Amino acid sequence: MERTTCCVVGGGPAGMVLGLLLARTGVEVTVLEKHGDFLRDFRGDTVHPSTLRLLDDLGLADRFAALPQRHVHSIQLPIGRGGELFTVGEIGSLPGKYNYVAMVPQWDLLDLLADEANREPTFQLRTNTEVTSFLMERGRVTGVRYRDRTSGSTGELRATLTVACDGRGSLARDLPELGLQEFACPMDVWWFRLPRAEGDPQGLVGNVGERFLTAMIDRGDYWQCAALIPKGADATCRAEGLDRFLAAFTEATPWIRRGPDREPGPRSWDEVKLLNVRMDRLRRWHRPGLLCIGDAAHAMSPVFGIGINLAVEDAVAAARYLAGPLREGTVGLADVRAVQRRRWPTTVATQGLQRIAHARVIGPLLQGRSPVAGGEPLRLAQVLTKAPWLKRAPAYFLAYGAGRERPPAESLRSSG
Ligand SMILES: Cc1cc2nc3c(=O)[nH]c(=O)nc-3n(C[C@H](O)[C@H](O)[C@H](O)COP(=O)(O)OP(=O)(O)OC[C@H]3O[C@@H](n4cnc5c(N)ncnc54)[C@H](O)[C@@H]3O)c2cc1C
Repeated sequence: MERTTCCVVGGGPAGMVLGLLLARTGVEVTVLEKHGDFLRDFRGDTVHPSTLRLLDDLGLADRFAALPQRHVHSIQLPIGRGGELFTVGEIGSLPGKYNYVAMVPQWDLLDLLADEANREPTFQLRTNTEVTSFLMERGRVTGVRYRDRTSGSTGELRATLTVACDGRGSLARDLPELGLQEFACPMDVWWFRLPRAEGDPQGLVGNVGERFLTAMIDRGDYWQCAALIPKGADATCRAEGLDRFLAAFTEATPWIRRGPDREPGPRSWDEVKLLNVRMDRLRRWHRPGLLCIGDAAHAMSPVFGIGINLAVEDAVAAARYLAGPLREGTVGLADVRAVQRRRWPTTVATQGLQRIAHARVIGPLLQGRSPVAGGEPLRLAQVLTKAPWLKRAPAYFLAYGAGRERPPAESLRSSG
């Protein structure tokens, strides 16, 4: 029978950070990841100051800085009259060296974490290994059943604690006692690439078009473009034709006409991927033998691009609360409860702000209405820019959430 102390289901940002931190504290940890590597479709690029500071604390600042990246110093929403962008998070105004959002492909970050974790003797990453169900004994989760996707063989891995980091489609969500609470979202997202050209702006660029909003992420030689469309409108919008959409996109982003030698964008709808936007959270993130963190516990809206960082911060809190009890073999319900209690305020507050942005800004804009016309979001944004300390409050929240999470002392390393 296979056994480990902590079985982590899923090697995304939450699972890899948890695996690395626990392994550095001497806990035996096995991460099961269903894919063969981290090189997948676009999954978001935003690494916020909380994660940058964590990487520094872990001695990984130099290796992270060597990855190709762009820096963004403010976060904007289209809440001005007519949808002009308004700065809601002036992260550049925060003190300290990490006062920006680094735009880094997620697979580069995950490769770095995996490489570092693999140096620890108590760490194991098993790729191509899909967890198919939980092992249960007398109401307690005691590990997982898995299938090796290369050989087709199946097996069981027993663990003192199983942590579900398997994203918004988590197996744990089938457990009715955890209670999934869903929130309506007014939008879905189309993702596609557009080549960059000489003279283009840099970083993160947003705009408002006819029944869509855009966010364009600078990835060196191309733009990773997001177009927010009304929820459920994918089929209708596609039926109107790709040329019509691209013409409207260019209309909303006139500077892309400036590159005469720019290669064309998507040539068929196959190159435009749909993200079904969901926002939800589990009422309870645990049961005996099991804890859920990251998207498994709470799927976030793409507003503020904060999903990766909340997942990472959940993992940091989990490692801090659980490393000692796991090592000593005393981990119990009180420990996993403490993780949820710690992370709940940031999760609820962030989703609350996202719901306000959905209802007051994104929903109206996608329906072709002016979101503000002198309304509350604009007034609030104007108040927030009046005093420097007020300006810093939303920036601090976007950068660090409701409170900074500190990794376990044994996981810290100096850089270089
Ligand atoms: C298109 C897109 C764009 C996004 N853009 C951004 C952005 O710009 N900024 C941002 O902060 N967030 C963004 N997000 C959200 C962000 O990717 C997630 O919030 C974040 O990745 C959550 O991390 P996680 O580790 O909890 O889950 P995930 O990243 O979803 O990782 C889950 C992992 O578990 C694995 N897995 C799933 N099921 C199993 C199983 N049964 N057995 C074994 N392994 C399993 C998966 O393969 C995956 O590797 C985006 C998401 C998408 C889909």
